Amino acid sequence: MRELRLQGPELARLRCSPGAHVTVSVPDEAVTVRRVYSVWDSDPVAALRLRIALHDGGGPGCAWVLAARPGDEVTLEPPRSKITIDPRAAYNLFVGDETGAVPLLAMHAAAGMFVASRAPHRHLA
Ligand SMILES: Cc1cc2nc3c(=O)[nH]c(=O)nc-3n(C[C@H](O)[C@H](O)[C@H](O)COP(=O)(O)OP(=O)(O)OC[C@H]3O[C@@H](n4cnc5c(N)ncnc54)[C@H](O)[C@@H]3O)c2cc1C
Repeated sequence: MRELRLQGPELARLRCSPGAHVTVSVPDEAVTVRRVYSVWDSDPVAALRLRIALHDGGGPGCAWVLAARPGDEVTLEPPRSKITIDPRAAYNLFVGDETGAVPLLAMHAAAGMFVASRAPHRHLA
């Protein structure tokens, strides 16, 4: 797993709910392909962080992460949120593999904030 911190003036315009993902344009030989990555966390002022799993036989996404260096430029599409937590839920159950851990732990952290701000509420990890 490798973490990438993305910074730039446009980040302040992005809105990320817990569990959101972004589509990143990564190089694949002579062309560009799209890969989807969940947002680990996002601070419009500081950075948007991705956590990307490295695996055997990886494709363009893995190659991009391994080759990334400070100062590299990247194009990404605005965040999308197909899954997120429901703050009204009494319980949350998070189940996933290594890749799924990124959005699930982001949602788990957000659920913890709801627990702190509103009782009764429980979450299961
Ligand atoms: C909504 C969504 C959110 C995602 N969020 C994340 C995230 O936060 N972090 C993250 O790392 N990935 C995430 N992914 C997966 C990511 O989009 C890529 O599929 C992954 O990085 C592999 O891309 P690649 O170009 O390296 O490999 P590909 O070109 O897609 O595949 C090349 C080879 O690697 C194999 N492979 C692909 N993924 C894995 C894997 N996880 N384990 C073992 N073998 C694999 C394929 O079977 C294939 O043989 C997410 C996907 C979706 C749909």
